[in-house]
Amino acid sequence: MPNYKICLLPGDGIGPEIIAEGVKVLNAVGAKYDTTFEYTEALIGGCAIDATGNPLPQETLDVANASDAVLLAAVGGPKWDTTDSSKPRPEQGLLGIRKALGLYTNLRPVTIFSALSAASTLKPEVIEGVDMVIVRELTGGLYFGERHRYYDEEGAGTDGVKGQRAVDTLEYREYEVERIARQAFEAARKRRGRVHSIDKANVLDTSRMWREVVHRIGETEYPDVELVDMLVDNTAMQLINDPRQFDVVVTENMFGDILSDEAAQITGSLGMLASASLGDGVALYEPSHGSAPDIAGKGIANPLAQIMSVAMMLQYSFDMVDAANDIMAAITKVLDAGYRTGDIKDASTPENMVVGTVAMGDLVVENL
Ligand code: NAD
Repeated sequence: MPNYKICLLPGDGIGPEIIAEGVKVLNAVGAKYDTTFEYTEALIGGCAIDATGNPLPQETLDVANASDAVLLAAVGGPKWDTTDSSKPRPEQGLLGIRKALGLYTNLRPVTIFSALSAASTLKPEVIEGVDMVIVRELTGGLYFGERHRYYDEEGAGTDGVKGQRAVDTLEYREYEVERIARQAFEAARKRRGRVHSIDKANVLDTSRMWREVVHRIGETEYPDVELVDMLVDNTAMQLINDPRQFDVVVTENMFGDILSDEAAQITGSLGMLASASLGDGVALYEPSHGSAPDIAGKGIANPLAQIMSVAMMLQYSFDMVDAANDIMAAITKVLDAGYRTGDIKDASTPENMVVGTVAMGDLVVENL
């Protein structure tokens, strides 16, 4: 019987509540497919700062590296918010584990469950049939560039004004663009054969290199895939205006961060979007939303993005595609039957069909 080791990182806020539902579903799938999962829990984010002073303790990295996959919930919260850059921040745990595990690709599928079309703020005719995957570069760019703050005593800049300065650096290397482009073209080949490459090539040099490299890879290795360039500001509009045009969307780290949250909103809730972060070794799976401190501890968080991240883990790390499809089918059944968590209910949802975190997890298991 196959046995997989899973590193569990519940993190902060609603994290522990939703990851418990992910584990529940994973165990149910394991029983069905004669597979066992062995869990080791570790600290990341705010809870790790509280316990050790470090948002990503070495022990956590050791557990992750000794596992077959990592399942993360979310990190952060007002308790650890600070503008003092010398203080540890929960997000450093997240950025740190992505870097340490070499997770340079973030896949975020955006699919509409037809039962939820009313939960979207967009009109049903705009979102009907939306099915895209956002491929975000995850270990380069602005979030990993050199940064510093200083006080300019002399007014040494071209404006001659003295005062505080803050600098972030946006840098990409050619190989980083090549490998993420390949991931996007490969994904497109398995889907509808179209890649939108998003940049800001009218302003940024990193974007101009990005565009050249993506075109070279596309023309030489994937001539069968259609490649469309789109500026990031236009993409922000197009996602709302005509989201159906997108199949695979590939972009750099910060643009991907922002656009994928916007795309998530098309589905009606951030609580409905899962993600896989892949590199050349252990992969990490997590919901796209944050730790939702405003609803933490209330038992009302939507666990479905976490459960869908479990489905992605089965698909990408363990090649258990049937099991992954079972989970997606079970979620569809639960939603078609009318069950909703608070974030995805609408005016027509009867009160008795609004369920909490644990009940939603139970419903998915019952429908597997
Ligand atoms: P958020 O995603 O946590 O919450 C945004 C809104 O969506 C909130 O109203 C929240 O209640 C709701 N929401 C999110 N997930 C939900 C779910 N599963 N079910 C029901 N409702 C849900 O974003 P935020 O408020 O900007 O950030 C809160 C904290 O999370 C911050 O500390 C931020 O840094 C952190 N964060 C972490 C991650 C991560 O761990 N990957 C990502 C984004 C933000």
